[in-house]
Amino acid sequence: MKVFIVISALFIFIGAQAQTHVFKPLPYAYDALEPYIDAKTMEIHYSKHHQGYYDKFMAAIKGNSALESLSMPAIMASMNEFPVAVRNNGGGYWNHEFFWGSMTPGGRVLPDGALKNRINTQFGSMEKFLEEFKNAVMSLFGSGWVWLIQQNGELKIVTSPNQDNPLMNMPEGSIHPLLAIDVWEHAYYLKHQNKRAAYVDDFLKVVDWNAVSKRYL
Ligand code: MN
Repeated sequence: MKVFIVISALFIFIGAQAQTHVFKPLPYAYDALEPYIDAKTMEIHYSKHHQGYYDKFMAAIKGNSALESLSMPAIMASMNEFPVAVRNNGGGYWNHEFFWGSMTPGGRVLPDGALKNRINTQFGSMEKFLEEFKNAVMSLFGSGWVWLIQQNGELKIVTSPNQDNPLMNMPEGSIHPLLAIDVWEHAYYLKHQNKRAAYVDDFLKVVDWNAVSKRYL
């Protein structure tokens, strides 16, 4: 009996080890971000788009034990070494998980403490930062992402095309993403259609600044 328990525990342990890349539940209900991000968009975005990236990523790394056990940040850091399917779908998988964690029901209007001070120092004020962030979203051509990142202590607003992200092909730990907005039309078209500015304004109403502050070092 004891041997059976030990062997069972070993298999559970090995099983857990193999599950480096998991598809996490959405941290809130589909309708939790209403009226800013609508439930139908959230449902399709999470259960079709995000799930699709995850499934295709898992298919792309299947049988490659190194990729199956490497952390996502480690994979990102060496992305040029891997097939494009790993880049597109691994990026899509990681970016969306980060994006869900950047929002919260009801939002939190402003960051506080060290991050607030840093934003004021670098951008002049929270309003100016938000203006610059929105401008970056508005001027992004095609599908992609806009990020607030921390690099060498500095805050930067950067963009990435497709499902790329700022971690890709950079030394692991050198880039700290703080906030991300998905600027693919699938993120907003059902509710906002071509009105990208209205989407950014609504996104900013549900940003979880507590989470963003926690990501800030
Ligand atoms: Mn998306």
